[in-house]
Amino acid sequence: MSSYDDTTPLAREVAELTRRRIALADSSLPVPAATRIITVANQKGGVGKTTSTVNLAAALAQAGARVLVIDLDPQGNASTALGVEHRADTPSVYDVIIGDTPMIDVVQSSPEFPGLACIPATIHLAGAEIELVSLVAREQRLRTALENFLDQTDERYHYVFIDCPPSLGLLTINAFVAAREVLIPIQCEYYALEGLSQLLDNIKLIQRHLNPKLAVSTILLTMYDARTNLANQVVEEVRSHFPKEVLTTVIPRSVRISEAPSYGQSVISYDGNSPGSISYREAAAEIARRSAA
Ligand code: ATP
Ligand code: MG
Repeated sequence: MSSYDDTTPLAREVAELTRRRIALADSSLPVPAATRIITVANQKGGVGKTTSTVNLAAALAQAGARVLVIDLDPQGNASTALGVEHRADTPSVYDVIIGDTPMIDVVQSSPEFPGLACIPATIHLAGAEIELVSLVAREQRLRTALENFLDQTDERYHYVFIDCPPSLGLLTINAFVAAREVLIPIQCEYYALEGLSQLLDNIKLIQRHLNPKLAVSTILLTMYDARTNLANQVVEEVRSHFPKEVLTTVIPRSVRISEAPSYGQSVISYDGNSPGSISYREAAAEIARRSAA
């Protein structure tokens, strides 16, 4: 008889995690032929937009892709988590959108992984919703800036992720106009689907009037707690509504995920072997293997 008891739940969990880690290490990810521009949006606050943006971007960069994260939230949480400077006087996405500063002048490389870069957000962005109203082509400013940047830069970016604020204002509209894909994080909780139809209606309006190429390509279930029946019901319900879009991978609720940003890190570099990190790497692999809509 083996001296190691692999019949306890904990032992099984450890064995399963090891199996998933080895599967990830054994596989390489394809890179897209053209840059995939993915807006991460949900007007509900605190559903995991920033956490998903940062960790998917980090996971793809770790796998060898070149990834740009555009922080479009005045809170600047993505900038914090990627360890890039975003004090009030740091040149930022605000200067790009409002002041016509080229993105190439504000982009910073993230210390997280080679190939990972960030356009930071500062507190100035809080005024941008109002300042944008009176500007020409107010819905297209991010798209124009990003197109120019991708033309100018020597780096060939494989992915651009845009982290949106929790609202459907002009900043989020700029993100929808600049992107081809929308990734919607949904928190596995009781009110998960509340507000989703409003979000989808807004995306339809953008498709009709401003960006016919936009598609909801990906839905990611976040903060899953396997111990509750409720979380399982939410997963089933979202999967039945969006069978094609929902990733197989579900992101578990994990303390390591929530504490990583306070070290200016993604969970991928902070605790690479934790269940949260492995889940984000699996989600990133699924995204890489699905081609753009
Ligand atoms: P906002 O709408 O304010 O921009 P958000 O949608 O970007 O919020 P996050 O900031 O990513 O959401 O997450 C909200 C909070 O939940 C954060 O404190 C984050 O650390 C925590 N969190 C996110 N995902 C997880 C997870 N899988 N496990 C535990 N905590 C998590
Ligand atoms: Mg956020």
